[in-house]
Amino acid sequence: MNSYDAVVIGGGPAGMAAALYLARAGVKFLVVEKLSHGGQMLLSDELENYPGFPQGIKGYELADRMAEHVGQYKYDHRYAAVDKIIPGGEYHEVVVEQEHIRTKVIIIASGVSFRKLKVPNEEKLLGRGVSYCALCDGNFYRNKVVAVIGGGNSALEESIYLSKLVKKIYLVHRRDQFRADKVFRDKCLDNPVIEPVLNSVVSRIVGETEVTGIELQDTVTGKYSELKVDGVFIFVGFNAVCDFFPENLATDRSGFIKTTCEMESSIPGIFAAGDIRSKKCRQIVTAVGDGATAATAAYAYLEHK
Ligand code: NAP
Repeated sequence: MNSYDAVVIGGGPAGMAAALYLARAGVKFLVVEKLSHGGQMLLSDELENYPGFPQGIKGYELADRMAEHVGQYKYDHRYAAVDKIIPGGEYHEVVVEQEHIRTKVIIIASGVSFRKLKVPNEEKLLGRGVSYCALCDGNFYRNKVVAVIGGGNSALEESIYLSKLVKKIYLVHRRDQFRADKVFRDKCLDNPVIEPVLNSVVSRIVGETEVTGIELQDTVTGKYSELKVDGVFIFVGFNAVCDFFPENLATDRSGFIKTTCEMESSIPGIFAAGDIRSKKCRQIVTAVGDGATAATAAYAYLEHK
């Protein structure tokens, strides 16, 4: 059985920061990443709030820089999904593609997945007008009309990106006020391409083989209406990716891992960092801070052992 001091699950900003700190401390570790290094950063066009880049930086560029930085050090890396964590005493086990890997410490930085609207036709028309990624799919909608659903930072930031490509955006939000930061609200409200549609929920995505519109219900009057659109971009938050968690790992009601301020979970030797952690502020900069804190605490745990 392969054996490590630490296994980091996830190669987003939290995982890469943890890896950097573990590497510099001389810990023998493995990073397991499902897809590609960078996580959600890869889906962001321009990052304007990561300190040190006053002109902004592309998401993929920051991901590449972080990977290059960590890549200066020696550690094992594996592209695969984790199936299971089996907590133990001195050693825990991480099960990856049926292989059991022994490790004293685990840092879970597995991030989040897109929350679905759970309305008719959302699944059926995925990739045929329904999208969860403006950077990936925006180009298909040049000079077309789209709807963006949501009122948080993601919905407004992605609307700003899409407004450079499409003819018109209906920005549909279920309340009368956006949750997003003021900087995004101001940019959206000043943007002639973006038309806010407030107090409205999507009751159905319309279309047989591709999206032709969305059916909305007004949350104040209860009345239904239809908007003709060529695409729907859905940004209504994230869910925890928690299917591989051990049963006794303490999480909040939404499945995010509860930790101490040192990123320790309820199970000794298991730490959590980044968006998967139960917390309020989900930013790249806080993910990086979590990763560094988790790795430092993990190193202290290993030393103590
Ligand atoms: P979020 O902040 O949780 O916002 C989700 C939005 O979707 C809310 O406006 C919510 O409405 C709405 N919503 C949720 N479920 C819905 C449903 N079933 N139907 C219709 N609307 C629904 O999620 P997010 O915008 O993806 O952001 C996630 C985290 O990442 C946040 O911490 C955010 O600050 C961070 N983020 C930061 C940046 C940045 O700083 N550049 C960019 C993107 C994301 P209500 O407002 O009514 O609850």
